[in-house]
Amino acid sequence: MNLTFPGGVHVPYYKSGSKDKAIRKTRLPQRVVIPLSQHTGAPCEPLVEKGQVVKVGQKIGDSSAFVSAPIHASISGKVASIEPLQHPALGKKVMSVVIESDGGDEVAETIAPKPDPFAMDPEEVKSVIREAGIVGLGGAAFPTSVKISPPKDKKIDSYILNGAECEPYLTSDHRLMVERPREAIFGLKVLMYATGVKRGYVCIEDNKPEAIDAMKKAIGSDSNIKLVVLESKYPQGSEKHLIKAVLGREVPSGGLPFDVGAMVSNVGTAIAVADAFITGMPLVQRVITVTGSAIANPANLEVRIGTLFSDIIEEVGGFSSPPGKVIMGGPMMGIAQWSLDVPVIKGTSGILVMAQNEIDMVGPFPCVRCARCVDVCPMNLLPLFLGAYAERGLYADAEAYRALDCIECGSCAYVCPARRPLVQAIRTAKSEIMAKRRAKAQSAVAAKA
Ligand code: SF4
Ligand code: SF4
Repeated sequence: MNLTFPGGVHVPYYKSGSKDKAIRKTRLPQRVVIPLSQHTGAPCEPLVEKGQVVKVGQKIGDSSAFVSAPIHASISGKVASIEPLQHPALGKKVMSVVIESDGGDEVAETIAPKPDPFAMDPEEVKSVIREAGIVGLGGAAFPTSVKISPPKDKKIDSYILNGAECEPYLTSDHRLMVERPREAIFGLKVLMYATGVKRGYVCIEDNKPEAIDAMKKAIGSDSNIKLVVLESKYPQGSEKHLIKAVLGREVPSGGLPFDVGAMVSNVGTAIAVADAFITGMPLVQRVITVTGSAIANPANLEVRIGTLFSDIIEEVGGFSSPPGKVIMGGPMMGIAQWSLDVPVIKGTSGILVMAQNEIDMVGPFPCVRCARCVDVCPMNLLPLFLGAYAERGLYADAEAYRALDCIECGSCAYVCPARRPLVQAIRTAKSEIMAKRRAKAQSAVAAKA
């Protein structure tokens, strides 16, 4: 029996529309919109001005904050504007660099293959990863150079490469593992070297046999890296649940993977790390899945960061039926969009468009106390109470019921027969709790000053 974790849900996967579609490059966009905040942490400051000519791979934004990642031009051309524009993840306008293409796709002179990473000092390797603007490509977009720099007292012994891709519909990681397995393993080895970790695990759900074969071949006879086949269950790709399934370790409440000696990176992230050394190109493009019942020709596309959703929909032949809902990411954790005039960012794993006749707007109804949400919660929380407290503004009670441990996987909302908007309510509670903690910390600092 394949490894897994307690709780979770068996969702229908709907991956057949795109799982066998080879990754193809999109046409060069005429215009890209590159937000200066595409990662967890401090936003970047622009390093370019309106009217300036830029080339592919040129750094156009950076920050001196530790938790941040620089931003690079994804096409060559002229900076048309630097202005606040709609962001697909933050749901508000964010300062963005708009570049009009010159059609030449000229690469910046500074871009060149890097020396052998295994002959470098691990700190230098981290610096290459930082300068390449690499963030976690599984969706969270946490800066990779920060992730691989844990506190000195944390001893890391295991590096997990996350190829679970448990979100229904999404197939971009699957295609990457089938088509670029050697780069994925090379990237994993670089990450292991940078962190001084000797043991690597490549984790894939059992519904991806082609990816399992390809990655097994790429690992070859390397006895430091083990392939682990996992049960296909949502949210198997969550860091904490991968660690539980593979290492049998439980990340404590409020803790991080390094608290139990583990580190986790997505396969796309590892390939971005490989690219940063092999070609020297920073993170200026990524692979996304474009799919759903309203998409004419589902596909896995390699797109430049900043390409507008509208251009991508055109690239796959437009809509096959009237769209009812556009989601960035998968149906469980993705973010609904109200406009196609938003760009692909580093954290965009896919664009899912559901047809109008698939969208059912009934509910919510009163909770029937069936406890289904409790049975499936992979974090052992009580979603019905968390949701009720959040809806009533009782954030201290939500905090006491461990709202901050919620990973926002959506399993509770998925099984709820009353269609309660549990995740949205818990998300609100989490942001209120965090805002209160920040305010408390600030007033403590002010009191000391
Ligand atoms: S409460 Fe949070 S962690 Fe638990 S099922 Fe719901 S969304 Fe997932
Ligand atoms: S699944 Fe829905 S109806 Fe059932 S207990 Fe949870 S919130 Fe209530």
